[in-house]
Amino acid sequence: MRAVARIDHNDEAIVIIGSGAGGGTLAYELTAKGLPVVVLEAGPYLRNEDYVNLEWEAFNQMAWLDPRTTSGSWRVSRDFPNLPAWIVKAVGGTTTHWSGATPRFKAHEFKARSTYGRVDGANLLDWPLTLEDLAPYYDRAEKAMGSTHRHGRPALPANNNYKVFAGGAERAGYRHYATGPYATNAEPYDGRPASVQDGFNFQGDKNGSKWSTMVREIPRAEKTGLLDLRPESQAVQITHDSNGRADAVVYLDADGNLHRQAAKVVCVAGNSIETPRLLLMSASAQYPDGLANSSGQVGRNYMRHLTGSVYGQFEKPVRMYRGETMAGLIADESVHDPSRGFVGGFYMETISLGPAFLASFIDPGAWGKEFAQRIDAYARTAGMWIVGEDMPQESNRVTLNTSVEDAFGLPVPNVHVDDHANDEAMREYAYAAGERVYREVGAVGTHRTPPYPSTHNLGTCRMSERPEDGVVDRWGRAHDVPNLFVSDGSQFTTGAAANPTLTIVALAIRQAEYLADQLATGGV
Ligand SMILES: Cc1cc2nc3c(=O)[nH]c(=O)nc-3n(C[C@H](O)[C@H](O)[C@H](O)COP(=O)(O)OP(=O)(O)OC[C@H]3O[C@@H](n4cnc5c(N)ncnc54)[C@H](O)[C@@H]3O)c2cc1C
Repeated sequence: MRAVARIDHNDEAIVIIGSGAGGGTLAYELTAKGLPVVVLEAGPYLRNEDYVNLEWEAFNQMAWLDPRTTSGSWRVSRDFPNLPAWIVKAVGGTTTHWSGATPRFKAHEFKARSTYGRVDGANLLDWPLTLEDLAPYYDRAEKAMGSTHRHGRPALPANNNYKVFAGGAERAGYRHYATGPYATNAEPYDGRPASVQDGFNFQGDKNGSKWSTMVREIPRAEKTGLLDLRPESQAVQITHDSNGRADAVVYLDADGNLHRQAAKVVCVAGNSIETPRLLLMSASAQYPDGLANSSGQVGRNYMRHLTGSVYGQFEKPVRMYRGETMAGLIADESVHDPSRGFVGGFYMETISLGPAFLASFIDPGAWGKEFAQRIDAYARTAGMWIVGEDMPQESNRVTLNTSVEDAFGLPVPNVHVDDHANDEAMREYAYAAGERVYREVGAVGTHRTPPYPSTHNLGTCRMSERPEDGVVDRWGRAHDVPNLFVSDGSQFTTGAAANPTLTIVALAIRQAEYLADQLATGGV
């Protein structure tokens, strides 16, 4: 039953912008502590039963399709010039589209600058917190999300794609591979059923066995009666008073009407492209370069993980599309071992795209006999995705493109990316490692797929010890504006090899504790 809280526009509220991994978690944690919250969510409130189990229909239903532009030498800029990122515009954010892999960061990945040393062209920095600081929140996040392999929860069964992957891993000499950790239930847990292994996952999970803030945190926050959730409400400006404190959020409803919600605290969790865009659009006479941007770091150090896929074709059917899409991970290469020719590490994870998506992403623009053969081999194909640490670079950044407007007449974000030499070296190595896994179990052919629109978007408002190095402190609190928080993946100082969502959720749980304490003691 949806209990609707109504918070007056003039009441100075805690306002959270975005309801995905970061924002949705923060909303639940704060309301569970008895704090009323307004959540502004740009997208609609879709439910499990609304999802369409067809790839492109689902994508068009869920994805953030407002225009964006790209620049830089990355191939996405050529292949998908108006779609730099694959993220969601709906209640629950990208956790409704996500897959479920939930590895933790390793201790050294919080200390990238100290561990890797100086890397030319990379803007590396140590996080202002350690694995030890985050460990208790990782525990809580894993319990909330229901990660398999953790806290006594059973593993998901192996599907065919995993069996091929694991067989290759074993023969290649890898030792650390499993079907998780993965935030989809192998058995009923936390009010959600076990996976029915229907293979639909990126399309939205009708069955509700996959964790998302849409299935867990948002309904629970609603039950407290303290959540005022406003779907189809897009924040366009954060305003401030003469002391430089955030005092309201201006937002547009579905009909384009402007509203102003007074705020005592503002938490921005719009994912790593919209979060810096909003701060940049909130420039004022006092903050001419954008809110919280005295360091000039808002929008910079955009990271999207080293990505790429490897597919192997076999003589006999694999039917990779059956079962949980990404429940399979090889962790051996996630260590830092510079003898491989690069710093940082990467995971190999099973992946399966349907024929429609595979045709679009396999080698964008390709056509002809070879392309037809790959599609023809679909049922005999196994797939893996490579996810590794990419280097933060100052010039990889989100800026406002004032020559292109969205439907509301606002400047669209431009995403500029050039691969760093370390990213390229790691990708080449990882492609070869992935091909070897498939060859070890008799692949008759393999091929490499380039990175597609970024699903992991990180680092554009990074955490730093010193205000001049970043945008927020160790709690996600803006160095410049004491009642402004960043609560999503934008906070990441560096990207690590691990998929980011578990860390985003852990940081949001930790931030909620800090914020509640600060509110109780007058610290904010
Ligand atoms: C296909 C796919 C598979 C993935 N698989 C994995 C995986 O296996 N493991 C993993 O760790 N990660 C995975 N991810 C990534 C994961 O979904 C994201 O890292 C995570 O959801 C990001 O959390 P966030 O809070 O930063 O943003 P989101 O979850 O994207 O939430 C941001 C929300 O803010 C809203 N918003 C933005 N701007 C505004 C505004 N101005 N006003 C109001 N609302 C706004 C958006 O509509 C959105 O709902 C996957 C992503 C995709 C697309």
